[in-house]
Amino acid sequence: MADVILQATDLVKHYPIKGGVLRHTVGWVKAVDGVSFELHKGETLGIVGESGCGKSTLGRILMRLEEPTSGSVNFDGIEMYKQSGSAMRKLRRDIQIVFQDPYTSLNPRKTVGDIIGEPFEIHRDVVPKGGRDKAVRELLDMVGLNPEHINRYPHQFSGGQRQRIGIARGIALKPKVLICDEPVSALDVSVQAQVINLLEELQAELGLAYVFIAHDLSVVRHISDRVGVMYLGKMVELGTEDEVYERPTHPYTQALLSAVPVPDPTLRGKREQIVLTGDVPSPANPPSGCRFHTRCFKAQDICSVEDPEFIARPDGVGEHRSACHFAQVRQIVETVDVSDETPDPRFADVDHRDLSSAAE
Ligand code: SF4
Repeated sequence: MADVILQATDLVKHYPIKGGVLRHTVGWVKAVDGVSFELHKGETLGIVGESGCGKSTLGRILMRLEEPTSGSVNFDGIEMYKQSGSAMRKLRRDIQIVFQDPYTSLNPRKTVGDIIGEPFEIHRDVVPKGGRDKAVRELLDMVGLNPEHINRYPHQFSGGQRQRIGIARGIALKPKVLICDEPVSALDVSVQAQVINLLEELQAELGLAYVFIAHDLSVVRHISDRVGVMYLGKMVELGTEDEVYERPTHPYTQALLSAVPVPDPTLRGKREQIVLTGDVPSPANPPSGCRFHTRCFKAQDICSVEDPEFIARPDGVGEHRSACHFAQVRQIVETVDVSDETPDPRFADVDHRDLSSAAE
């Protein structure tokens, strides 16, 4: 498709498990195991799943912070893993990352000016000579921070403000894609909406595409155009926000959604919660066949033998894909109402610039 900016094809990342006196490889942790998807220009693709499902590893592979065991990433027509040296450096301008923890991802010994201006030291042709501070001040203003605070240190800012600094660093080179790896999960609930709203405004202003990795389904629904659901290293469902949240076809998605808190108290009694039994299996020893079969409430004999294909299902629509032999649309909107009619109160009328004076 013409508007595809990033295409991941059959990405695999296996980590060796070393054992014995000679530290031989005794097994493999299958963190990511055959994930494919496309990201379109200017869209937000949410990636959700429980802790340990491989979503953060996937984000690091897309940034080339980790080499995949196999598979490919095509960025705007260029095969990322075939590039090296200056070609790869050039590519890095266009794809940047915002990390989860604003407390550890910023160097405490550097000023905000040095942190945000760091990309300009590597990519020297982005701003004119002597123009670094001006560019940093503009970035601080864009993310709702006071440009006069350019010489302050990270500890002089609140958690939300530090994440804004991380975002300013992420957009400094005017990338086309920003990988957001759990960007609000370390923040207070009251601050999350401000950062999310800031990301939405920057997207509208700069035409950025986001891969938004998170475990909070309400946050992901709020910001995403399309959503991918991961379980034990595999993508098990992918569709538009509406398809995945209102017509989920994979039993794992259905179970996750049934556990989302319902904002509207009048709907709480109507909820049907799907309780998953058993623990999440180890990615070092995933179940045979469908990886979800040990916990699935719809499992049949075939499920432990045959791995279902990740394809569009007969009762799905368009590109709505699911990895389940018995995928069926399940209407559960009334049980997990995080819809527009009952917006999540965190995102109501929040001005992303509310924090701009907090460091005064
Ligand atoms: Fe459940 Fe079987 Fe579908 Fe896997 S393939 S999600 S075990 S019904």
